[in-house]
Amino acid sequence: QAKSAGRNTLRFFDNKMQAIVTSRAELENDLREGLRQQQLLLHYQPQVDVHGRIIGAEALVRWQHPSRGMVSPAHFIPLAEESGLILSLGDWVLNEACRQLRRWAAQPAMAHLTMAVNISARQIHQPDFVDQVLAAIHTAGVQPYHLKLELTESLLLEDTEEIILKMTALKACGVGFSLDDFGTGYSSLAYLKRLPLDQLKIDKSFVHDLLTDPNDAAIASSIITLAQSLGLNVIAEGVETEAQRQRLEALGCYTYQGYLFGHPVPADMLFAITPKK
Ligand code: C2E
Ligand code: MG
Ligand code: MG
Ligand code: MG
Repeated sequence: QAKSAGRNTLRFFDNKMQAIVTSRAELENDLREGLRQQQLLLHYQPQVDVHGRIIGAEALVRWQHPSRGMVSPAHFIPLAEESGLILSLGDWVLNEACRQLRRWAAQPAMAHLTMAVNISARQIHQPDFVDQVLAAIHTAGVQPYHLKLELTESLLLEDTEEIILKMTALKACGVGFSLDDFGTGYSSLAYLKRLPLDQLKIDKSFVHDLLTDPNDAAIASSIITLAQSLGLNVIAEGVETEAQRQRLEALGCYTYQGYLFGHPVPADMLFAITPKK
């Protein structure tokens, strides 16, 4: 009796674990297939200056799955990172973003736009990462200084020297770097100053309650001051209201990204958005 219950229990857990493993494996297979079948696409979210003019965009990957519908990157990027698929996915994103940058460069009204591209840890740790980025730039025929790579703090904690070397090499070619989700990680100030960064990106979690939470306001203010003293640009992400934008402006932040100015959209819709402010 007890033995069979034990077996059943074991089988129950087995089945449950098996289901989890299967669904992950399925999703991973689907993603691999999706890459081949061109189910991935990029949406672009405007980055605006203090006058509400679009100065650039961030490329955000989307997965249009034939039966699951639009799958969120928050869901499949971690999976892609664990499985290693991020390497081919990331390379595709980089090349596609550069091709879009080329289309903008061909139109006088858009030729000034910069393109921000998210880079994951596994990508930057590839031995030929620098070559991959330069190849994407050269193949598309774009200006390196129109490309900005977004890194996160957690990514920079491992093999720091190697990453600094790669960043320095790309920066020497004109490529820019922004530190994404800034304030949520653990980078020390001493460490920050050694990185060849161009921009700090204030995480949206601090922007969200900027007007009601004095701690968030203090953090946002400190990040802006820090950026100024390190000679870096600063951009705020997740700006949803004009009141938030005004507060950020008062604190000394003059570049913004968020739903107030536009959601991530297909490239041809970027300028269909009416700039607010
Ligand atoms: P992230 O790079 O910090 O991108 C900002 C996220 O905030 C995006 O979510 C964007 O849609 C969302 N967002 C923009 N404005 C607002 C706003 O006003 N309010 C709120 N609440 N959210 C806003 P998304 O597109 O779902 O992407 C999630 C994350 O997935 C990104 O965070 C990034 O870490 C990752 N990701 C997206 N595309 C790529 C990619 O091509 N490569 C890599 N490695 N990661 C990517
Ligand atoms: Mg980003
Ligand atoms: Mg971010
Ligand atoms: Mg984020």
